[in-house]
Amino acid sequence: MRPDVRISELGPAFYDLVKPADFPKTILRYRNQKAAETVGINKFSDDDWIAHFGQFKPLEGNLPEPLALRYHGHQFRHYNPDLGDGRGFLFAQLRDDKNRLLDLGTKGSGQTPYSRAGDGRLTLLGGVREVLATSYLEALGVNTSKSFSLIETGEQLQRSDEPSPTRSAVLVRLSHSHIRFGTFQRAAFEDNKEGLEALTSYCLKYYYPDVEDLTPAGLLGAVVRASADTVASWMVAGFVHGVMNTDNMNITGESFDYGPYRFSPTLQAGRTAAYFDHQGLYAFGRQPEIMYWNLSHLAGTLAHISEDKPLLAALEVFPQHYQKALRDKFFTRLGITPSAALKNDLDFVMQSLKWLEASQAGLAQFYVDFYGGVNSKKSALKSANKAFYQGEAFNEWLNSLKHYEACTRQSDQPGPVTLNHDDIETLWAPIAEKDDWSMFVAKLHEIGALNPE
Ligand code: AMP
Ligand code: MG
Repeated sequence: MRPDVRISELGPAFYDLVKPADFPKTILRYRNQKAAETVGINKFSDDDWIAHFGQFKPLEGNLPEPLALRYHGHQFRHYNPDLGDGRGFLFAQLRDDKNRLLDLGTKGSGQTPYSRAGDGRLTLLGGVREVLATSYLEALGVNTSKSFSLIETGEQLQRSDEPSPTRSAVLVRLSHSHIRFGTFQRAAFEDNKEGLEALTSYCLKYYYPDVEDLTPAGLLGAVVRASADTVASWMVAGFVHGVMNTDNMNITGESFDYGPYRFSPTLQAGRTAAYFDHQGLYAFGRQPEIMYWNLSHLAGTLAHISEDKPLLAALEVFPQHYQKALRDKFFTRLGITPSAALKNDLDFVMQSLKWLEASQAGLAQFYVDFYGGVNSKKSALKSANKAFYQGEAFNEWLNSLKHYEACTRQSDQPGPVTLNHDDIETLWAPIAEKDDWSMFVAKLHEIGALNPE
């Protein structure tokens, strides 16, 4: 383990010392051995694991006390200055095997000065959902935070969106930073120029060490590229984040904070995830535009310490970068080689997405069926999706696909792994009814998230 506590360099204006909740029980439900290996924590006994990630005994050489991080944010476009870690804290900072500076942060670890009316807790179902989301996104190649540990904590919680009382848990996530766009927004709101300068240098130094332009615009450009990349990978995965508030946007572009997300079984631009998103603000098809809006507000904070012009120039690369990332990720998922003409490839991506939306063919099945391109046609026409693979629009699409060569040898692909709303309900039911975790574990195996036994 390589502890490397750096957060104190930002100074005490960025956090509050807090105490973890004292839980009546700590039952280990999930430990991410793969992630633990990357930070050298895989050898802990289960008892040690629980002592650190359920009772929050400090890790050796790490933060002596947890820190609730301060931030603001735009929530559904309304500015909220009353945010901050209300049910989580930064527990530790450490280097991984690639020498990246990572955080262990919590969700559901007790109340803090930012809890407002909340209980500071996470429901077990919420924890299970976050473990599943991160595992599946990772398997799909999305740059995501990792769920590191899930421990059930033996309390009964009241929630309006779950049958209550409902069980409690504490999640630990391993993240490439917990600095949010909202962290910058808070410093800007307070017109804290020194704070903004400190944040900018901190992020460049620890999260973008390869960026040579050490100005606020240099940082913004890097965040724009990383965020464009992430949102493009959501679009290919059919993932609806659901709550793209600026306090849920990581400065490293890493996708995180999974509440009411959805993996859409078929492509639907208007598909929302949060039941309270009545206007469809964060609907699937709007995600790139929302990311751009969020980035423009990050740029607005940096305007306190920079000229506008270089910031605008950094923002403007978003569409180009997004389009290229969308092309690359879509082609990778289909196992085909892009051409030299980005414009033609993008036309093909658009034609594909249009057809997928019009036909309502199963998305995960589609990617499996046409993996390796047109060579896969024969087997595709026998798949569970076969009824969708006909008609004029489909034939036109198939003709376009013929222009692309397989970049990989076609192999016998297993059936598609899905993580639809129904899949999650199905594996949650036995946990809720008889504490039977076998389907949850089976799903993680299916996703490839667990080391083989
Ligand atoms: P989220 O929607 O999870 O991103 O949370 C938005 C804000 O509400 C953050 O400041 C959270 O810390 C806070 N929050 C959410 N749930 C709770 C809770 N049960 N208790 C205290 N604060 C919470
Ligand atoms: Mg959040």
